[in-house]
Amino acid sequence: MSAIRVLDEKTVSKIAAGEVIERPLSVIKELVENAIDAAATEIAVEIQEGGHRLIRVSDNGCGMGPDDCRLAIESHTTSKLADIADLDSLATLGFRGEALHSIAAVSHLTATSRRRQDEVGVCLRVEGGKIISEEPAARNPGTTVEVENLFYNIPARQKFLKTSRAEVQAISNFLSRVFIAYPEISFRFAHNDVDVFRIEPAESPMERIHAQMGREVSGAIEEARGNLKRVGIHAIFTRPDFTFPNRRFQTYFVNRRLVKDRSITIAVDTAYKGLIPSGRYPMCIMLLAVPPDEVDVNVHPAKTEVRFLHEHEIHSLIYRTIRSSFVEPLKVESEPPLKLVSPQAKISPPPLLQPHPPAVQRELKLESAPPLLVPDAEADDKQRVEIYDQFYDTFIFATVNGQPVIIDQHIASERIMYNRLKRASADAPSQRLLISEPVEVPHYVFSVLNDNLDAINSTGIEIESFGDRAFVIRSVVHNAGAYDPLSLLTTLANEITAAPFKAPDNVIQDKLITVVACKMAIQGGQKLSREEMKALVEEYLTEEFNRTCPHGRPIMFELSREALNSWFKR
Ligand code: ADP
Ligand code: MG
Repeated sequence: MSAIRVLDEKTVSKIAAGEVIERPLSVIKELVENAIDAAATEIAVEIQEGGHRLIRVSDNGCGMGPDDCRLAIESHTTSKLADIADLDSLATLGFRGEALHSIAAVSHLTATSRRRQDEVGVCLRVEGGKIISEEPAARNPGTTVEVENLFYNIPARQKFLKTSRAEVQAISNFLSRVFIAYPEISFRFAHNDVDVFRIEPAESPMERIHAQMGREVSGAIEEARGNLKRVGIHAIFTRPDFTFPNRRFQTYFVNRRLVKDRSITIAVDTAYKGLIPSGRYPMCIMLLAVPPDEVDVNVHPAKTEVRFLHEHEIHSLIYRTIRSSFVEPLKVESEPPLKLVSPQAKISPPPLLQPHPPAVQRELKLESAPPLLVPDAEADDKQRVEIYDQFYDTFIFATVNGQPVIIDQHIASERIMYNRLKRASADAPSQRLLISEPVEVPHYVFSVLNDNLDAINSTGIEIESFGDRAFVIRSVVHNAGAYDPLSLLTTLANEITAAPFKAPDNVIQDKLITVVACKMAIQGGQKLSREEMKALVEEYLTEEFNRTCPHGRPIMFELSREALNSWFKR
């Protein structure tokens, strides 16, 4: 092995550049952030050949004088941070002072800039980090940075560049995320002299989203704001009935900085848990305002990862903000007064069988009676159900308003149980069992359950210890199936043991409710009478979010005319 050597400065900056600057997209990200920090209201990104030949970012921001411009390129310099203590009060996107220097080290860079107060601007040409010319230049106030022949001096890196098409896609994707958080800025993106998009200033992030997503999606969007202590949230998201096959439309900003953060993603997933099928994702744009001293953005050179001081609070704020806009705690009395009509109950056609269940989803927040209590006078609203038969003791063949459907009895029942437990856990007592036998459980089950009685009793069922080996189940949701109490208790204990340490309460509660619902539901392989089937299907149809079970499995197969036509090739 050779002796340790001190690397020359040029090598060091090439290595450093490699970390932040991987590809044209990363150059654009840094230059656009600089333009935003310079308070620009117009930003243009033009590239040639996927940015491999040329990247040009122009803005109408504050500009730089000749001295600053030189400094910004020559070394790690920033106007945004004077002291390490300032990191705690950071309000700009950039602060590391290395982007321009790093880009200049691996390209041919030209910067042209003029401050409003100066008569003339300056034009600097830089090659491999060295300034080769400096001239006065005429231009409107603002800055243009041109980056040519990226990685010309790092051939190894050049080999790994993506195709132009992939790069244009990635840049377009990046810009159309960023512009949501900056509605006041107009953006233009052009490739090989052809506009990819142009977007005019807008009033709000919502307006930008409408423009981007089109009318169909816009109809399915909710907007909510909230705050918890010093953290504010502005969320724009699709209702559970409108999902996408990937996370492409999930975009998170912390203090208007575009971030990738697992804890935010998890909170969003939890908020939609049980409401959408697995493998489907909502659109969800989240703008979080977090005091700078409660978030660390200096975790990664590209500044896309963040660390929150109060991660749990942020999780629960996100969860509550989203979830409460489609799942209101439903109040259900254990002995519901008969003939109870709530004004909302009238507008509760179950969202099934309609392709895009409706704006009424919002109003479906039934505050009092669940729809199954709608009296006969309201029967017109009810869907007409005819039961034909049960197959394989598992599938019910029926028609709903004349349309043939096949329903999985277990999954439908599981959804009903889950919703009931959710309502019961929200506040109302469940059905109390007068006679309940103590159930003897294994030792470890006893101690796990005993240590977590509060969590369990917040799920809408109620258990009490009986001696030091057994439990009695005091109350369950009404109409529970013929569940096996021992298996229920054991599953609860297993679920609690498997829950990640420090998982937020609402996550644990939801997990427990999910397993209890599964246990208490009518199982597959169980023979049902025609009356039982009718009762099940009718109740199922009145439930909210009835397209999938809490695990995301579909419940009902609709034999639509189109499906039949296409099967028979008509
Ligand atoms: P940072 O953004 O982390 O400060 P950069 O290397 O990206 O570091 O930029 C260095 C400095 O150059 C910035 O702090 C800013 O003062 C100046 N600068 C860069 N781009 C622009 C621009 N488009 N308009 C005005 N000033 C700019
Ligand atoms: Mg910067």
